[in-house]
Amino acid sequence: MNLVLLGPPGGGKGTQAKRLMDTFGLVQLSTGDMLRAAVSSGSEIGKKAKAVMDAGQLVSDDIVIAIIDERLDQADTQNGVIFDGFPRTVAQAEALDAMLVRKGRGLNAAIEVRVPDALLIERITGRYTCAKCGAGYHDKFQKPAKDGVCDKCGSTEFIRRADDNAETVTKRLDAYHAQTAPLLPYYEKKGILSVVDGTQDIAKVTTDLETILKSTKK
Ligand code: AMP
Repeated sequence: MNLVLLGPPGGGKGTQAKRLMDTFGLVQLSTGDMLRAAVSSGSEIGKKAKAVMDAGQLVSDDIVIAIIDERLDQADTQNGVIFDGFPRTVAQAEALDAMLVRKGRGLNAAIEVRVPDALLIERITGRYTCAKCGAGYHDKFQKPAKDGVCDKCGSTEFIRRADDNAETVTKRLDAYHAQTAPLLPYYEKKGILSVVDGTQDIAKVTTDLETILKSTKK
């Protein structure tokens, strides 16, 4: 089963993708994570992407399409993937459709995790992750039980994304509405779009997603 998670930055796509992976035996493919890894490694792609990401704009379609195309040729994706943060433009969605056909696969579902803009800025600017195990936290909504210590692995080091600041977030939201929101009617026309209420607590959003996936045709 292959699934696209749609929704604005900070809407919880990454959090939910991680929670769904084990239940459904799927692999999370986050182009944001892949691009951040490219930036950290100092690769050519990373160098090109860094300034664009810091400005809250979208990296060019060619780059992300090539990254996904290559990643889908790795064996661990055969059982199915959750696309998280990809596609982000109609051109990317069309390229994904063509790529999946070429590889003898298809898309089973696209689910929008819907959250109004007003909630997103506070969600994004307060979030951070454990530098060691990647567990996600929030200054206000999800603090570790012991201040400054990761609940999951005990590490005391945490990281914040360079683009999770108030100024860049507004630009990322603009990019979402202008370039990514047109994917909602794109997938609706294909008859594979569902919506979940992303303002609910994390576990309830997961339950709603699981209900949709259980009734999705494989
Ligand atoms: P994310 O982690 O999904 O919020 O992505 C962080 C940043 O990476 C975005 O603001 C974009 O600059 C870039 N990015 C991630 N995925 C894509 C994509 N599919 N197309 C274009 N740019 C992307």
